[in-house]
Amino acid sequence: MSTALQQTSAVHSVGTAEESVVPAGVAGTEWVQRYRHAVMDTFGDPRRVLVRGEGVHVWDADGRRYLDLLAGIAVNSLGHAHPLLVAAVTGQLTTLGHVSNFFASPAQIALAERITALVPTVGDVPNRVFFTNSGAEAVEAAFKLVRRTGRPRVAAAAGSFHGRTMGALALTSKAAYREPFGQLPGPVDFVPFGDVDALDAAITDQTAAFVVEPVQGEAGVVPAPAGYLAAARRITAERGALLVLDEVQCGMGRTGDWLAHTASGVVPDVVTLAKGLGGGIPIGACLTTGSATSMLGRGQHGTTFGGNPVAAAAGLAVFAAIERDGLLDQVRRVGAVLADGIRGCGHPLVGEVRAAGLLIAFDLTRPVAPAVAAAALDAGFVVNDVRPDAIRLAPPLVLTADQAREFTDALPAVLDAALLAAGIPA
Ligand code: PLP
Repeated sequence: MSTALQQTSAVHSVGTAEESVVPAGVAGTEWVQRYRHAVMDTFGDPRRVLVRGEGVHVWDADGRRYLDLLAGIAVNSLGHAHPLLVAAVTGQLTTLGHVSNFFASPAQIALAERITALVPTVGDVPNRVFFTNSGAEAVEAAFKLVRRTGRPRVAAAAGSFHGRTMGALALTSKAAYREPFGQLPGPVDFVPFGDVDALDAAITDQTAAFVVEPVQGEAGVVPAPAGYLAAARRITAERGALLVLDEVQCGMGRTGDWLAHTASGVVPDVVTLAKGLGGGIPIGACLTTGSATSMLGRGQHGTTFGGNPVAAAAGLAVFAAIERDGLLDQVRRVGAVLADGIRGCGHPLVGEVRAAGLLIAFDLTRPVAPAVAAAALDAGFVVNDVRPDAIRLAPPLVLTADQAREFTDALPAVLDAALLAAGIPA
């Protein structure tokens, strides 16, 4: 028997012993060894190998339980194994799993209708959506769409993150992500985030679009200043450029509104979505309004999996659960508990706290974020060192106030442990 077969014929954790394809009963350290051999080293070693999730908790291969305050980076909006999501996905898979885009499915069409209703229409032009499998692909679709204006330049914000495909990467400001990959689509003009005057100077009649996140997630949860999106809308409209809002991370209820830009009253030309949209099943969307709805014509873009019925059913379940369980209100309420608890924890390592619903980051007064994330894991909490000096939280939208307090109560000891591990006196 080959090694691979021996490995996969161990005790199984998913389905019946006969049906299961996922090996179990393997220690975390052994999994990490196997990961190193079999998976490309783009992410570094996994911090834990996770085997199970339920609600806001996950368990690792060694049986340890964690409060998941990251939700797969703002993805598991309903937590883990949510009954509505499980029922929608299994129900759809048992009925019809995939069709290609020569055909459509009720799930795909119904989800498109829900997404298009998230933003007002422009005049009497119905909003329309293009489905993708990820955030980068949603941005990629938006990039192709804005190229149809015939204008050569695109503007994006300093601090932006839009994904790792070549187009999305071109719009991502961090030079270290872009530079190893040679010529990217462009030219892209990066403007300081939140600076209206700089935007005014940068957008010209050569600019196809300004692409911006209403809350910059990877930059460390930086919300656009009040009035910035409205100014961006005015400036782009004046110059005939499109406004693309990337809500891949901050959209789908995460900030306590369906979309992070909703309160601004701005009607964008394009909105990109992914992450929380499928609650853990890969799906993205490029939502368009007005003239942008018809800028990509027949044959000008495509995807095999985009709008797949199973992923679309997952999206419908996410909409249904957020609505049924009043999760937008819960996000606002629990987000405030979490952010206030961090602010009030009184530890000298905690600096500025930035929060938009359940997308939260706190700065550290020393660059020890990896040590804090490691200490948090040791204490049973999944958090993310989004920057060397900042910790990000993006928990499931179903997190309760008591669960939020579990973390804030434990935070001072976690920070002390991190300082100790980093060799810094508390
Ligand atoms: N856009 C934003 C704002 C993101 O935060 C991300 C991922 O973090 C992406 C795009 C890329 O999404 P994906 O990783 O699904 O390709």
